[in-house]
Amino acid sequence: MMNAFEVQPRSILFGLQPIDNGDDYMFESAGSYIVRLSYAHQVAPHHFIRNFLNPALGQCGVSNDLFISYGFSAMNGYRAKAEGYLNALAVFTGQQNIKLLSMSPWVTLLDSMGKGLFHSSKRWCPKCLFEWRSAGETLYEPLIWSLKSLECCPLHQCEYEEHCNHCGKEQYMVQRVLPVGYCPECGSFLGHAFKMKARILTQKELYLLNLVASRNNVKEFHNLHYLLREGIRVVMAQLCVSSTKKLENLLSFSQATISQWFSDSKRGTRPTLSTLLNFCVAVNVSPADLLFNHSSIKAEANVANLDGRRTFVNADKKDWVENRFRAIVENQKEIISVNQVADELKVGDSYLRYHFPDISAMLVSKNNQLRAQKKKANIKRKTQLIENTCRTLLRNGVFPSHNYVRGVLQDELNSFGFGEFTTIWNEVIKRL
Ligand SMILES: [Zn+2]
Ligand SMILES: [Zn+2]
Repeated sequence: MMNAFEVQPRSILFGLQPIDNGDDYMFESAGSYIVRLSYAHQVAPHHFIRNFLNPALGQCGVSNDLFISYGFSAMNGYRAKAEGYLNALAVFTGQQNIKLLSMSPWVTLLDSMGKGLFHSSKRWCPKCLFEWRSAGETLYEPLIWSLKSLECCPLHQCEYEEHCNHCGKEQYMVQRVLPVGYCPECGSFLGHAFKMKARILTQKELYLLNLVASRNNVKEFHNLHYLLREGIRVVMAQLCVSSTKKLENLLSFSQATISQWFSDSKRGTRPTLSTLLNFCVAVNVSPADLLFNHSSIKAEANVANLDGRRTFVNADKKDWVENRFRAIVENQKEIISVNQVADELKVGDSYLRYHFPDISAMLVSKNNQLRAQKKKANIKRKTQLIENTCRTLLRNGVFPSHNYVRGVLQDELNSFGFGEFTTIWNEVIKRL
């Protein structure tokens, strides 16, 4: 007969349930889970990690840097250190979905170093904490609070805080002592209900939430980098560009970035989270569609907002480029190519041709007119030159034969096209 222990297999640690309040992206982070798990065993997190978790992984002691500078990457990331912690926690607690509390679902999509993935110190929404405590709910830290591409709470539309409201201190990435929601420096609660400046989430931030929320779409057999390339191929087909280089040009994306995502060489071939989101914003396709739902892709081409580049709201940038482009064409006195205008306006020439086909056509037609005018003026000048030479020769009693006139104008002949001299000479000599 089975005993109770076999019916209900026991885990080494308390089988604490991660918090997931069901709206797709507010699920708990691994760093927060470890802190709550420690207190479920009546010990402070640094004690728990030093005396239990690290020894179990064959590591001795615990560096303070884990709490101060690399805790997000070590707990919430997808590199080897996080993988070790997450696997151990899954085994010890029997909670198989612990991996989903980190960015590990995206390990085959994003760059291997996890560059620019996390904030450099803890961020939190004081209103979320305040509401949870007021409602008697468990305090926790969602994974999204640690992600650098998000600066604003999607539930309260307020910017995250990064300093304790009472003592002004930055917080540990992973709580070292005290439960989640309390400042270890002064013990104060980090939540409050003070009025805060409201702001709307940017498209990039919305796409970050969309990516995080689609973690359940990731299957173990998926190579997300491959799915990304397939998605980009659909985008390219819709925007009628035949190469990644042309796509970079069209979106004014950093040169060679998208091309590198398609390169099979070992290094640097996967996007950082921020660059990937910039790409999604530029083509107006959500990360979930770009990866998992190719038939829903409806791509547009906008100028990409890149990290470190002066930021324009896309619509403003497009208006500005359109006005400048129109002004250049309307005041045009010289032949100028679309390429030259594109260089001047710091966009790709495909961007101009794609967004402003009418102005581009106007430029081409003005160039043709200017070329025709120039040609006409040139022929007039040459005819005048030959006529004057003939008249001078006649006045001096010399017949202006083809060869004689050619000889006199020797230095000028370089500027004549093939057969041009003969045609003009014939026409002039008939008139004289
Ligand atoms: Zn909030
Ligand atoms: Zn404090």
